[in-house]
Amino acid sequence: MKLSRKTIFIVLIVVLNTFNVLVLYRLWRIKAHKDVPKSSPVTTIADTTKSIEKVRDKKAAKDSIKQQVFLPILGSSDKLGAKDFANLKAYRKAQRKIAQNYPGELYFNGDTSRKEVALTFDDGPDGRVTLQVLKILAKYKVSASFFVVGNYVKKYPKVVKQIADAGHLVLNHSTTHQSYLKKSKSWLKRDLLATEDAIYKVIGKRPAMFRPPYGDIDPQMIEVVQQNAYKNIIWSYDTLDWTGASVDTIAQGVIQKVRPGEIVLMHSRPGVENTVKALPLIIQRLQKQGYRLVRLDQILGVKAYKE
Ligand SMILES: [Zn+2]
Repeated sequence: MKLSRKTIFIVLIVVLNTFNVLVLYRLWRIKAHKDVPKSSPVTTIADTTKSIEKVRDKKAAKDSIKQQVFLPILGSSDKLGAKDFANLKAYRKAQRKIAQNYPGELYFNGDTSRKEVALTFDDGPDGRVTLQVLKILAKYKVSASFFVVGNYVKKYPKVVKQIADAGHLVLNHSTTHQSYLKKSKSWLKRDLLATEDAIYKVIGKRPAMFRPPYGDIDPQMIEVVQQNAYKNIIWSYDTLDWTGASVDTIAQGVIQKVRPGEIVLMHSRPGVENTVKALPLIIQRLQKQGYRLVRLDQILGVKAYKE
């Protein structure tokens, strides 16, 4: 069979085009494969952040919690050795891993697109440090959030009232400050609601935000907290004031590392006097950097009280 020059030309064009399509397909496959996140059992924070950002873009404004970008937890102390700090970092990573299975139930930080910071004070009230903290907040006209321990609420009701009257939030931090891990569901509920009742008796409002002692979370406690109409609030920056960190470590740490949406963990109890000294510096410098210091309900867009 004799092929015309025209036929040979057409066949050649078809063969070349087919080859080109195959090469382009192969290149596309390689690129697509590179873009797929590795299916490692330990998802990295960057991966988590990326996937949460995707969810945020898709479900705009539907659920403020699902829009949350998880900031890596920061904060170091001059009083923590290398080994303890490594353990702490591993702990933070483990917290994050649990949290990613419960979208909408745990917060680490607020909206990262706004220059806002929430100062939070745990473990009060007491008769001295909490009052000093309140005085500083009043001086600088700053609102904050206090996670109080039920037994101390009963002991210092006037201080609790003073916190609420000054416009700060009074929130639940358990009754006896025991870890919420490895307890029965009925124990957890009892402990949670005992503090809620104690707060209600003093300020007439029931908190809807809970901070687990030590930041300890597991599926069971998350479920109990959720069933009792609470959100778990962790933090994105730990001043580590409880380690006895110096005033400079506490203040400069926050000032230099602060990010929009930061939830800063501090304490208002005896033994953390350096926090009282660091607080004015932190407030002044953050405000100078253009940050608004707000309460948790404002930074998260979530209600602080049940009624
Ligand atoms: Zn605590």
